[in-house]
Amino acid sequence: MEDSFDLDLVLEISVSGVELSSEIRAPEISVAGFQGVAVHNPSLLGLCVVCMDKFEEGSMAKQMPSCSHVYHESCIHMWLQHHNSCPICQCQVL
Ligand SMILES: [Zn+2]
Ligand SMILES: [Zn+2]
Repeated sequence: MEDSFDLDLVLEISVSGVELSSEIRAPEISVAGFQGVAVHNPSLLGLCVVCMDKFEEGSMAKQMPSCSHVYHESCIHMWLQHHNSCPICQCQVL
């Protein structure tokens, strides 16, 4: 048997780990729940303001549920790691 295995120490580490993660207020907004928008006419959508690039015709974009602004999926995913608001109108997501 492993007498050197310190269960108390392991429990202490895991508990402090939980406290640490709950202190960081990460909204954890997932773009998976956002509606996908098929880009048929890129000029109608204008630019993705996150990367300031245009949408590719025939690609998929993601639409904010709160305000219907549209972004590249990867862009809005990255944006929401650090924000919980729309890059254009600042409305709160969720
Ligand atoms: Zn983009
Ligand atoms: Zn918006």
